[in-house]
Amino acid sequence: MLKGAGLGCFSAVILEEVLVKKKNINKYRRVVGAEVIGGLKSFSRPLKGKRVVHINSTANGGGVAEILISLVPLQRSLGVDSRWFVVNPPAKFFEITKKFHNALQGANIKFSKSELDYYLKINKQFGRALKDIKADLFVIHDPQPLASWHFAERLEPAISRIHIDLSTPNKQLLEFLLPYLNDYDKVIFSLNSFVPKGLPVGKVAIIPPAIDPLVPKNEPMSLKAARKVLAGLGIDIKRPIVAQVSRFDPWKDPTGVINAYRLARKKIVGLQLILLGNATAKDDPESAMMIEKVKRHAGEDPDIHLVNVDNNMLVNAVQTGADIVLQKSIREGFGLTATEALWKGKPVIAGNVGGLALQIDNPHNGILVEKSTTAAEAIVKLFNDKSFAAELGREAHKSVLKNYLITRLLRDHHRLYRSLI
Ligand code: UDP
Repeated sequence: MLKGAGLGCFSAVILEEVLVKKKNINKYRRVVGAEVIGGLKSFSRPLKGKRVVHINSTANGGGVAEILISLVPLQRSLGVDSRWFVVNPPAKFFEITKKFHNALQGANIKFSKSELDYYLKINKQFGRALKDIKADLFVIHDPQPLASWHFAERLEPAISRIHIDLSTPNKQLLEFLLPYLNDYDKVIFSLNSFVPKGLPVGKVAIIPPAIDPLVPKNEPMSLKAARKVLAGLGIDIKRPIVAQVSRFDPWKDPTGVINAYRLARKKIVGLQLILLGNATAKDDPESAMMIEKVKRHAGEDPDIHLVNVDNNMLVNAVQTGADIVLQKSIREGFGLTATEALWKGKPVIAGNVGGLALQIDNPHNGILVEKSTTAAEAIVKLFNDKSFAAELGREAHKSVLKNYLITRLLRDHHRLYRSLI
């Protein structure tokens, strides 16, 4: 739920508060143990009552919203006065910032002066709206509202959290953004290799994302229940199933997934593919075009199931019910979809890039691939070697329990906050 916030009556509502459901940190004892939760509580005590404000570009769709939906209420449960606002700019702004996203992940795009000026103009408006929000610390996520801090003219500490894969950034854009990034006290990246040159080492923090094991998407679901949902989608649950769950975005390479499926199907008789995505992220105006492209690539194949629905239980059912989960990204800031599938003990085949290469120790808890042909070979191997597939799944679950649950993320965030407030 959203509500306008922090603005005088004559300005457009450019920042909206996201109202999140309450969560109780004590419930996580049953997943990570009482000791971890006790430690987290005492570690978070110095932050009691501190006002932390998160700002990002969408409350729905994509990994950042997914994290904030859990992080914000769990911070509250730990005594931090955490709030979350999303920016609400004209559609033109997100067309430009989606180009920013693509360029920062390596696309060869040139930006005109008028595009960059427009980005700054809107960020100036975000900055003005920030002036009205009471806070002890700001955490501003991703490039869309990045420059707002420069215009906010506030004295409190601020963190920029960059979630995208910055391994091969567009130089023009990076040079343009770097001064605004340098305005922050700290900048969080998911991986060391994403840290751009020109940012002092002392400003950098490396904190990989994490999943919430107690949301409907990640709660244990039986194979039987998951398969029942898949059958309802018209999928033949007696035949082999591979799946990818992702926004429809070129970087997630859905057409490459179809190519891999087609090659693997030559050896795995009756193989079916589910491509589940949602087009709800308001900061991603390209998704409708991408869905059409994927549909054309899939053609008339009745065994490719392209599903465009925003439903957490469906995500759970697909990740639980598929035999193998793919995340064949070409660039990936982290890849929560892979974490979610690993957590469910699935054999995961992922692109050997960014955050996926961080999560997967090939071939112990998953398989990393470079292209569609090797993804197809991995699919065939996993169907033909069930004990290898089961071992991968067991290791996958253990690796998420150890490294990528939200309780670890809370501690990392709070450690950084404590160094600033
Ligand atoms: N997601 C979803 N429904 C979909 C596709 C994705 O709920 O149809 C969720 C997915 O479960 C994950 C998040 O969106 O929690 C995507 O995060 P990720 O880090 O994988 O990628 P991003 O979209 O942020 O690039």
